[in-house]
Amino acid sequence: MVDRFLFQIQQPKMKEIWHNECGDIWDKNPKCLIIGITGSIGSGKTTAAKLFSKHGYNRIDADEIGHQIITKNSAAYKRIINKFGIGILDKNNINRNRLGDVVFNDNSKLKELNSITHPLIINEIKNQIKKIKQKCGNKTKIVIDAPLLLETKTENLVDNVVVVRCDKKNILKRNKKYPREKIERILKLQMPLDEKIKRADFVIDNNKDLGHLEKQVKDVIEKLDMINRRGKK
Ligand code: ATP
Repeated sequence: MVDRFLFQIQQPKMKEIWHNECGDIWDKNPKCLIIGITGSIGSGKTTAAKLFSKHGYNRIDADEIGHQIITKNSAAYKRIINKFGIGILDKNNINRNRLGDVVFNDNSKLKELNSITHPLIINEIKNQIKKIKQKCGNKTKIVIDAPLLLETKTENLVDNVVVVRCDKKNILKRNKKYPREKIERILKLQMPLDEKIKRADFVIDNNKDLGHLEKQVKDVIEKLDMINRRGKK
């Protein structure tokens, strides 16, 4: 018998995707499919997103966009320095660790930072989606690696939400580059994992090796392909 806990991929929610109950005649022309990957800090979101990209998805990295929008002399750069002071600078560049030390210790400051960066990040995600569609056509597949997919309502841009879950002990073990206290603090600030899972169409368990992760990614891709062919006309 399959251990339900080992087989971590939830069935997709039976929402509008199944509205087309026209039997076995599949649409051979599926439309563009956009999925969003989220999960706790260090849970393996990027690793999973790269596996989707290995299997044909175009990857958009919200973290990377977050880095780009605060580069020197950008609009966000100036606003962030005005708000948080020159103490966060290192050779005139915003030092993300210093900025993190400020905002992750004060929820109101985190909200202020998010109010500057999130609209810009979402805008750039939309730009990248547009560019990918222009380059690859309207039937392309896109994965957005977005730690704050649910918190920022970026989920409105995606067809399906994939949550990568990982136990705290493995997160701590795999993310030694961050001090333990920092991870603990960020975990507390993030939307609780249970809440994310409630809003997920698929949950991927990343507590085992990379082979186990890739198998689940492939399973999700198969299900999405099936849903996309059947449900989207
Ligand atoms: P962040 O929240 O910092 O953006 P993330 O959720 O994107 O992190 P990754 O960067 O994908 O997480 O993974 C964190 C670390 O865990 C990386 O060093 C990655 O190589 C490692 N890792 C991810 N999945 C596994 C796995 N199944 N087995 C072993 N190591 C893993």
